[in-house]
Amino acid sequence: MNAKQLANDLRPKVRASMSEVRAGLERLARVPSMSAPGYDLAPVRESAKLTAELFKAAGVNARVVEREGAHPAVVGRADGPKGSPTVLLYAHHDVQPPGPRDRWTTDPFTPTERDGRLYGRGVADDKAGIAAHLSALRAYGGRPPCGVALFIEGEEESGSGHLLDFLSAEKDTVRCDAVIIADSANWRIGQPAITTTLRGNALVTVELRVSDHAVHSGGFGGAVPDALMALARLLASLHDDLGRVAVKGLKSDDADPLDLKEDDLRKWVGTRPSVRLIGDGSITSRLWRKPSLSVIGLDATPVREASNTLWPVATARISMRVPPGQDAKAAQDALVAHLLSHAPWGAELNITRGPTGEAYTGATTGPAYAALKDALGAAWGREAIDIGQGGSIPFLFDFARTFPDAALLVTGVEDPESNAHSENESLHLAEFENVCVAEATFLGLFGGSGRG
Ligand SMILES: [Zn+2]
Repeated sequence: MNAKQLANDLRPKVRASMSEVRAGLERLARVPSMSAPGYDLAPVRESAKLTAELFKAAGVNARVVEREGAHPAVVGRADGPKGSPTVLLYAHHDVQPPGPRDRWTTDPFTPTERDGRLYGRGVADDKAGIAAHLSALRAYGGRPPCGVALFIEGEEESGSGHLLDFLSAEKDTVRCDAVIIADSANWRIGQPAITTTLRGNALVTVELRVSDHAVHSGGFGGAVPDALMALARLLASLHDDLGRVAVKGLKSDDADPLDLKEDDLRKWVGTRPSVRLIGDGSITSRLWRKPSLSVIGLDATPVREASNTLWPVATARISMRVPPGQDAKAAQDALVAHLLSHAPWGAELNITRGPTGEAYTGATTGPAYAALKDALGAAWGREAIDIGQGGSIPFLFDFARTFPDAALLVTGVEDPESNAHSENESLHLAEFENVCVAEATFLGLFGGSGRG
């Protein structure tokens, strides 16, 4: 059967089980499974338990696995026909914190449908990935046309710190010929895509100190700097006036501009009209192939506690996105060297290196890639394109290291308006049906390809 026929055959089956799949997604989305440090561990446990339960109901022998100091993951396995290859289905059941409640139109942990989209924290990133896997399995009545392995991570949003540990402990359960990583985005509504490059990341926390203790701003201001003013100068040195990253020694490359216009980006982001974009080159190059630096946290005196005082110390956390082809540790070294050589007015810096994650460049050849391209094309009736993503999936690097022969396939459950990690995160429900049809079609095509 060709891809088109298979997709047409599977679509009614995907539709038939959609209400159950959707109910599972909504149950998951009600669990506030934040894996970031400082959050209650119980909801992540609960979401792992529920994830295993949902996969068991869809025919996979799934179980929760724990490692010392880690958030629980879910693994499982279902055999395919004799001789068929095995596909590992990856997603993550943890979510980002919702941020300020008043920025959400509806409660982040009460999934709500509006205008064809389902809103809630995690409904797209990445509980929709879990739901897509459930749907593809249900389309085959729990008897998949190829072997299926499962790895649903519980700490992707907090850095995947125990991934290698989990993978080596569960090596027999997760061994496979290809991996579907359902944790990325399609290009546009109606335009399927395979993510073939991802930037890496590196975190650095810089504490800047100017004096031993706070002093009166009237008595000493003008001769003695304050820590936040000095830190602002240090952070400003990270970009030039055009907003290009000013740190030396970082790689930078160009990407196919595709049809991305500045106006599209502005609309997705809600950029204020007076704000200019930063960086140079095509927008896709800036997002996918060049480094970026952002200040993601700041410790200084809150305005409500402000007094006429020169504060001695201030701290910023800097997040760097590392272009494909650049070693993440080397990029972190370059950032640290820049900070140390730009400390304003001789301020003391205490720099803490956070975790790094490597960038990724995927293969665009081989039977698994070809089957996925055909499956996506058949589900949408439009050929899939290769895209990059600015974000990172540390899982990929660790998985490629553990299983060097498996084909890694990064697929989308989000679209550009999903607002992952931000307020009013949402899933486009009609696109989600296509995501499910495509994944089910892929399982059929790839299962067949393994048996000649
Ligand atoms: Zn994700």
